[in-house]
Amino acid sequence: LLSEQPFESEIRDASDRHVWGSLSSGTAELQRVGSRVIREWEFVFGGLIPSTVRSDVIAYGVITLLIIMMLSGLAVTVRGVKREMELGKLQNEFVSAVSHEFKSPITGVRLLLERLSTGKELSAEQSQGYFSAIDAELNRLERLVNRVLMVQKLQTGHLPYLFAQTSVVVVLERAIGLIKPQAEAKQISIVLNAENGAPVAEIDESAITDAVENLLDNAVKYSSNGSTVRINIEADSDFLFVDVSDEGPGVSSEDRERIFEKFYRGAAANQYDVRGTGLGLSLVKAVVEGHHGTIKVRSTKSGGSCFRMKLPIHQPESDHA
Ligand code: ADP
Repeated sequence: LLSEQPFESEIRDASDRHVWGSLSSGTAELQRVGSRVIREWEFVFGGLIPSTVRSDVIAYGVITLLIIMMLSGLAVTVRGVKREMELGKLQNEFVSAVSHEFKSPITGVRLLLERLSTGKELSAEQSQGYFSAIDAELNRLERLVNRVLMVQKLQTGHLPYLFAQTSVVVVLERAIGLIKPQAEAKQISIVLNAENGAPVAEIDESAITDAVENLLDNAVKYSSNGSTVRINIEADSDFLFVDVSDEGPGVSSEDRERIFEKFYRGAAANQYDVRGTGLGLSLVKAVVEGHHGTIKVRSTKSGGSCFRMKLPIHQPESDHA
């Protein structure tokens, strides 16, 4: 290599200090040869890299860079397309689930109205029964719309909460009242148990009613006819614990990790062909976390599920505004 081009040389000792000569700046070190006479010394040869070699190196470098850029571009595009497809699939499933959910109360109201308008003589009690059923179906429809709207609000930021000292039992009783028609249709009884009396906590009444109603809705949906759903409240000086347990199929350990994700529907939903949107628990989690609390699920002794909401009794001063 050196015979074909001008070169420079120097001698360095064992500590790499110059003994003689030095390569000028811009000169690359090309080879070192040990001295046979003085063992610690080395001859260092250097020279300019020939321009052909340099231009080859540049050309290879540019090509490699281009290939790397193309491959990473391709990977990004493939990932983007995959994500789009997954999102499209989720969107389709969501639209079809929501339409199914909306359809059943609408069909219910239509049937009830047909019965009322057949012209048959109905007793005041019977008519009242039909009106209450229509009211319950419309409430259900309203709750579904609210659920979808809440998800949309969550997507654009946090939900605003209005914290106030509230009797928890009153909130739970209201949530039970909302779910009663579905429970009665399946002869499911809902039992409320408040061990330490009636605790008061700083909560957003409407958001917690919604969250408990979602848990009760699931407990009723996934349980079989004639079973019992229990709500248990406990409180100490710092925290409030609300347990909603049922005698249904329970939640498998794989599902436990994911059921709080938006749109996720677990094994129970498919296995028992239960309708839903996969939104309920994601909303419950958002509300509970908005209250600086946690939500967890575990199995009951009978194999059903128990959802535990843990909420602080007091909210931080900064959240009161
Ligand atoms: P949805 O019920 O509409 O599917 P959710 O977000 O409320 O959506 O629940 C997510 C999943 O968690 C459900 O699909 C179901 O698999 C599981 N799940 C929720 N509650 C219960 C319950 N009480 N018993 C058994 N499985 C449940």
